Amino acid sequence: MNTVTCPKCKIIHELTKELANEESLTCLACGTTFKNPYYSNSTNTVSLTKKQKRGIIVFVVIIILYLIGKNDDTSYSSQYIVTKDTYAATDKQTRDDLVSYALNNDIQAVRNLLIQGKAVPLNKGEEVYLVSYRLSYCVVRKKGSSQKLWINNECVKQQSK
Ligand SMILES: [Zn+2]
Repeated sequence: MNTVTCPKCKIIHELTKELANEESLTCLACGTTFKNPYYSNSTNTVSLTKKQKRGIIVFVVIIILYLIGKNDDTSYSSQYIVTKDTYAATDKQTRDDLVSYALNNDIQAVRNLLIQGKAVPLNKGEEVYLVSYRLSYCVVRKKGSSQKLWINNECVKQQSK
């Protein structure tokens, strides 16, 4: 899998296939938005010869190896902390529902998701592990739990040592 390094805080993020097609990315840890180095207009790459392509791939691999080595001592951690009281969804669909209920200010609908167990409250200061990271939301799990939780990126930050 490709990795991308935040230009500001130098944290390495894994780049999923769907994110690779995004023009810009937002760092989960510091909120910086930056250009996706893997994003390309197909017109640009068509004109490259096979040899040129191989050269670029080797170049990218060397850079990644360099960055991984460089970040060794800052030790990348997947441990995150919840920054504000929020509701976490237990699946992607519920996450979308929560967002639309919140936009409509429909507190009763949110309460229904909680009663059904599809959404759970997540409190400020709770420790979570990052499972995967997307542009506008991320998937985390609580310590000791295997249940995946969908929340907004702005509700978590990487725990500082
Ligand atoms: Zn960052």
